[in-house]
Amino acid sequence: MNTQVLPPTKEALELASELLRNGQLVAFPTETVYGLGANALDEAAVRGIFSAKGRPADNPLIVHVSDAASAEALCQLTPDARKLMAAFCPGPLTLLLPKKNCILPVVNAGLPSVAIRIPNHPVAQALLHASRLPIAAPSANVSGRPSPTTAAHVRYDLHGRIPLILDGGTCQVGLESTVLDMTTNPPNLLRPGGISPEMLLTVLPEVRVVDSVLRPMQEGEKPLSPGMMYRHYAPEAKLILVKGQPGHVCNRCEALYREATEQGVSVRILVFEEHLPLYGEHPHLVPLGSLGNLEAVAQLLFSLLRQMDEDGAQLLLCEVPEPKGIGLAILNRLCRAASFCMEDADQ
Ligand code: AMP
Ligand code: MG
Repeated sequence: MNTQVLPPTKEALELASELLRNGQLVAFPTETVYGLGANALDEAAVRGIFSAKGRPADNPLIVHVSDAASAEALCQLTPDARKLMAAFCPGPLTLLLPKKNCILPVVNAGLPSVAIRIPNHPVAQALLHASRLPIAAPSANVSGRPSPTTAAHVRYDLHGRIPLILDGGTCQVGLESTVLDMTTNPPNLLRPGGISPEMLLTVLPEVRVVDSVLRPMQEGEKPLSPGMMYRHYAPEAKLILVKGQPGHVCNRCEALYREATEQGVSVRILVFEEHLPLYGEHPHLVPLGSLGNLEAVAQLLFSLLRQMDEDGAQLLLCEVPEPKGIGLAILNRLCRAASFCMEDADQ
């Protein structure tokens, strides 16, 4: 199959809508990451998403709609869900809500809830309006790889497998949406993202961040969200996270670097700008961005991990942010990409 990459002109949006109506897949930009969309009401089309990505069938999809009124056709909107939508939607927030009958089991893995999101991106909104369809869309990458934040990333992973990629430039948030389960009391935050727990608490009296956000699933543990079971967001290179006081982190990274380099391993050290001077003149430092602008770190993170693979790096040693604000989402993605391999440099 030939994969076209087109700028989001009126003609391209019409073509995309026609493809969706005909049961085909279209990759499109959102403010979080690129999505791989299908008509959420077409079972065969939705199955196509799972095969194009190699995604396990028990990992449910997010359904994208243009506004709260369209969401209401698919799920029951609780009063708190309405308040959250008024505050943060369109935006990088996915709500799990009781599903209505029209939700196909292939979309939500047969669960009682469905994941609903209203994306805040002009191209995603234009596609929802032009097609007049709810669009089921996970990230437009091969399952397990870092999510795509540019059309080039999508093309790299999925060319030949889908007919069209709408190119809307680089995604602004760069990490997937916050997933909040509204079917529990208090609501459970299953995946941190662009809408932080601190932001949610300006609207809700209580939010529970499930502790598996920052720790591996234990054997036999039933995941609250099926997607939590899988290794995710991962580069080809082995990733080791190093936490602790900056001076200690620098010493530990340099020791690990020397050890691996002596064995012929190609290593990179991913360091926040503020800590670069600690390392002096070092040949393999990669700036992660500034601790003072973690939004920019989030935006570039997946792109950076993909770049490391292209450069042939085999081992990545990476500093970590505090789990506050968007830092929680960055740390969650790093933990999963590293399969929770974290060294404490203070010990
Ligand atoms: P993705 O589409 O790859 O960004 O992932 C969506 C995330 O939401 C995955 O972790 C899913 O497991 C999770 N999810 C979607 N729908 C549900 C649901 N009904 N119940 C629990 N988790 C869900
Ligand atoms: Mg994904």
